[in-house]
Amino acid sequence: MRIPPGVKQQDFESAVSQWQKHVGEEWIFTSEADADLYRDAYTPFRKEEEEIVPAAAVAPDTVEQVQAIMRIANRYRIPIYPVSTGRNLGYGGSAPVLSGSVVLDLKRMNRILEVNERNAYAMVEPGVSYFDLYRYIQERGYRLWIDAPAPGWGSLIGNSLDHGAGYTANPHRDHFDAHCGMEVVLANGDLVRTGMGALPGAQTWQQFKYGYGPTVDGLFAQSNFGVVTKMGFWLYPEPEAYFDATVSVPRFNDVIPLVDILANLIYSGVLNSNTIMGSPMRYSTLTNPTINELFLNSDKPEAVRALNQYAATNKLPFWDNRLKFYGPEAVIKAQWEYAKQKFAQIPDVSFQDGKLLRFPLPQEQIDRLTDKENIGVPSLEAFRDGARSPANPTPNIGHLGFSPVIPMTGEAVIESQRVIARALVDLGATPAFNTLPNSYHTRDFVILIGFSIMDDVDINKKSREVFRRLIKLAAEHGWGEYRTHTAFMDDVADIYSFNNHALRRLHETLKDAIDPNGILSAGRYGIWPKHLRKT
Ligand SMILES: Cc1cc2nc3c(=O)[nH]c(=O)nc-3n(C[C@H](O)[C@H](O)[C@H](O)COP(=O)(O)OP(=O)(O)OC[C@H]3O[C@@H](n4cnc5c(N)ncnc54)[C@H](O)[C@@H]3O)c2cc1C
Repeated sequence: MRIPPGVKQQDFESAVSQWQKHVGEEWIFTSEADADLYRDAYTPFRKEEEEIVPAAAVAPDTVEQVQAIMRIANRYRIPIYPVSTGRNLGYGGSAPVLSGSVVLDLKRMNRILEVNERNAYAMVEPGVSYFDLYRYIQERGYRLWIDAPAPGWGSLIGNSLDHGAGYTANPHRDHFDAHCGMEVVLANGDLVRTGMGALPGAQTWQQFKYGYGPTVDGLFAQSNFGVVTKMGFWLYPEPEAYFDATVSVPRFNDVIPLVDILANLIYSGVLNSNTIMGSPMRYSTLTNPTINELFLNSDKPEAVRALNQYAATNKLPFWDNRLKFYGPEAVIKAQWEYAKQKFAQIPDVSFQDGKLLRFPLPQEQIDRLTDKENIGVPSLEAFRDGARSPANPTPNIGHLGFSPVIPMTGEAVIESQRVIARALVDLGATPAFNTLPNSYHTRDFVILIGFSIMDDVDINKKSREVFRRLIKLAAEHGWGEYRTHTAFMDDVADIYSFNNHALRRLHETLKDAIDPNGILSAGRYGIWPKHLRKT
């Protein structure tokens, strides 16, 4: 049995035996083999001593059990790390930040407490996955959509608490923004309901977010201030139709008006979906060293002229953008017509209609879709990309997600692509993927860069080094990550340093007040309890 750091063996044994009385012996996992199941499958420290190793795990079934576990942990100062379904792959999986913590596995708490079709919301426990909620809704024939991230096996609560995102319309795809009301167990075992949930017998817990007084929900996301045991989410009433289309522009600098018009359509509510920037020239920049060199020097007018010439000769639009529309068919057709009028200001712009889907969609048609996430259907198809195949006999084990947020402007698209591409060349790194910007949230772009985790210590070390350099480089340009892997939480917290780290100092003040013994998720998002701060 591993013992958590700073805890006496006798105290840990006492805590375990008290937990057993509340949760049942079979739901406490103290053998190394069992605890190892909670290691991060995508750890960048594979086969290295620094790999984070949980000491044990405990899996309660009820809120009362969570409260009892926390009270006992608080008494013996045992570090606890709650996860919902623990599938945060790319960002730390189910492993804690502090090695030797006990994972509080909430997977068994998988009750769908309410789905309200008339007011389009659900209230769920942490173990409810996107698949669970989707099935529940389908079985009852509710005309409601969920919004799922690419892997549908994660949980609504864990994903939203890490500021995860999906692919349908606003406000549903920004998963924390789509929540309404939560229930939280604090480190001392106290039970709090936020928003209208604080009113006994409240009728509007899942309908009015603010409740009364300060809104504290945000304190429980990307933090370590409580264990969330229930959360409400707004669902999307099944739209009448979906339509996607692509706008393409021929020249390098056309991305500036392209994104300006796009942003205006989004901010004014004409376009309510996330959009994905693309570049038909990208393949050439990745495979043709001359074109790549021109792209890396695209701050020089002669390089831009040569790139435009290459694109024109090869009949490649320089940029494109895929738009998605959701709503009544007549409305989305009108929205697309309006969008086309706006984009027509860009000389030589071209448009391509994509697919029009009307709902409900027959199952055979859903099965054939390769982008099910766009219509709120959870799947695991994301794992197909990069999987073992004759063309890819040695796939990577996983990836580390580097995800900086940049402004929604064409200038930022150009600058970020060039700066990051240049840094990757200089640092000798070839990530598994390096995307153009995606509008996960409403008013910004996110770039995703995935560094491969391999069965090779040197490659992983190099990826960590490059990752850390990129965090600093991005910060020098005013771009910060929206989320990060547990291995880099301190590095990213370091760049959010305004006024001598005033935000970190505020987080620490809150931590000391809410969790004075510092037992919850030590180190998460760079927030350490007092007794571990110096180290
Ligand atoms: C190929 C691939 C594609 C991906 N695509 C996406 C995507 O499209 N969108 C996206 O958002 N992510 C994506 N991810 C990342 C990740 O897989 C998902 O975000 C996943 O939903 C997170 O896992 P989870 O829901 O099990 O959360 P968990 O692992 O349960 O939770 C995440 C973290 O939140 C905290 N937490 C969780 N539950 C609680 C609780 N009840 N109380 C207090 N704290 C808690 C913990 O610190 C935990 O480590 C992708 C990953 C891969 C590998």
